[in-house]
Amino acid sequence: MADYLSDYIGKYVKRFESGDSGCLTFGQCGNDWGISCGTNQRILRYGIAINFLKKYFGEYEIVQKLYFNNLGDREVSYWLGEQYCSSPDEVKAAWIFCVYAVGKEEFERIEHEDILENYYNVTKKELDGFFDVEKNRAFQEMCFAGSIFNGAVAYANRIKNLLVSYQNDEQFFDLIYDSLYKEYKWERWAKAENCSYIGNSERETLRNLLNSKAIKEGGKMKKVMIDPGHFGSYYNQSPCDSRYYESNFTWDVSNRLKKYLESYGIQADLTRNNKDQDVGLVDRGKMSEGYDLFISMHSNAVGESSVNQKEEIDYPVSYCLVNDQRFQFDEVSREIGQRLATGVKEVLNTKQDGIIYLWTADWDRDGDGQLNDNYLGVLHGARLVGTPAVVLEHSFHTNSATTAKLLQESYVDALAKKDADVIADFLGVYQASTVTMTSFSLCDKTVRVIADSIAMYNDAAMSNKIGELKVGSARRAVQAFGLSDNRKGLRLEDGNYINAIKGVDVFKNNMKESVKRAESPDGVLNVRDFPNSYGSAVLRVLANGNLVRVIGECYNNADHWYLVKIENSTENITGFAAARYLKNA
Ligand SMILES: [Zn+2]
Repeated sequence: MADYLSDYIGKYVKRFESGDSGCLTFGQCGNDWGISCGTNQRILRYGIAINFLKKYFGEYEIVQKLYFNNLGDREVSYWLGEQYCSSPDEVKAAWIFCVYAVGKEEFERIEHEDILENYYNVTKKELDGFFDVEKNRAFQEMCFAGSIFNGAVAYANRIKNLLVSYQNDEQFFDLIYDSLYKEYKWERWAKAENCSYIGNSERETLRNLLNSKAIKEGGKMKKVMIDPGHFGSYYNQSPCDSRYYESNFTWDVSNRLKKYLESYGIQADLTRNNKDQDVGLVDRGKMSEGYDLFISMHSNAVGESSVNQKEEIDYPVSYCLVNDQRFQFDEVSREIGQRLATGVKEVLNTKQDGIIYLWTADWDRDGDGQLNDNYLGVLHGARLVGTPAVVLEHSFHTNSATTAKLLQESYVDALAKKDADVIADFLGVYQASTVTMTSFSLCDKTVRVIADSIAMYNDAAMSNKIGELKVGSARRAVQAFGLSDNRKGLRLEDGNYINAIKGVDVFKNNMKESVKRAESPDGVLNVRDFPNSYGSAVLRVLANGNLVRVIGECYNNADHWYLVKIENSTENITGFAAARYLKNA
């Protein structure tokens, strides 16, 4: 829980949101369907205020009665009527009710936690590898305020667009506030000379914090306890190759795993300080108290079987516990257990798939006469302290092909790295990247995959792989960018990213250019940096009658978007606008 009463992210910007009235502030502001409320301006538009109340205060009848019918992106500054959502008065009444029901302080704490989770941390993740939101306190506060004002992804895009001109922290800080001030003209974002706002703007208040240390409230360091299987040097010799001992492998792979996890910024500890130390099984498991994961590293063996059978058996397996009583951490063990076993298969290219084996508690380890303990003592120990736990068998050292690989340093290292990647991904930790964006533009291109498959990422730094595109598949790309490590990337209309050079043919969609006229029922039409009303930044607002050049198009979830260009003596903007509101001129 945030230590809300002392120091917290958002402390300095709170006064610019709500002055002294805090969560009981109500106001009218811009394109918000007529109401903004609360410490951090939850607006009516997009259902933001209503959804917030429903999420946290759904037990109250007055909140249950609220509704929001998502009828699309309408750029108006007034409530659009009962067909859209509850009235501003109804929302205000429910809001005030909830503030008094739980108390002002508790209400603001809930609001603050919600913003950290759904705005600030989302912006931070979007910018991972590009811009260090937690480089100093000013950036941190700026992004807290910006993410709730603009929306998390749109604010991250605003920063990405400006990164090309980054010189130093203060210059970039001013660049971001210049872009907000230019667009909205609010004194809140003005430089001192243009500002009469409570004596000082948000910009000038935060400028003093550019050299202050960021507070690490949002991210608790993740911790993993690694158990290097068996102690000593000569335990469990392979029948296939006399040089292989399981205890040598587990010590080596565990130390490498520790190193890789640490490179992710994850705290990693071993259950023993040296190779020959013998620590009891249950004690090893218990050492994981307060950790996010316990992992015991092994290679497997089959008992009495024919040589032929042994050569057929090579499945990587994670052992997890089953008990009558299932806890949340048991489910976690099973999920990560399966992912780890699959990872081992990928590295060793085993014949059999990676699986999890659920081991039942049918052992009387503690000698109390009840068969309610587990044979796998380390898992039993971890379970006693409530830590998700896995015994991971890196295939079989009774299989000669596997044994040959486990004796090679390159495979041991690759296994450790894979285990670390899987764990980091599972814990939501991504490698800090030093890459920055060096160019950015909007486009209308088609990408066709010519390699067997290419990786698809959910970040522009192209470090978090989330899937693949197979040979022959084609996608439309709507953003193009360059990175400081010379990679070039494309953002697809579904929001994911691919490498623009490797394994693809890219060609421009040559739509016949035309001039079109804005004509929207609301009188205004947004030009955005991505063909999506919700996760994009507004680059320009067109008024009805404005003419634009249409140079491309795309479809996103069946919505038709035009890529438009606005060029005149003072501006040169390319962006996406909803096609249905652009008519032939
Ligand atoms: Zn073992």
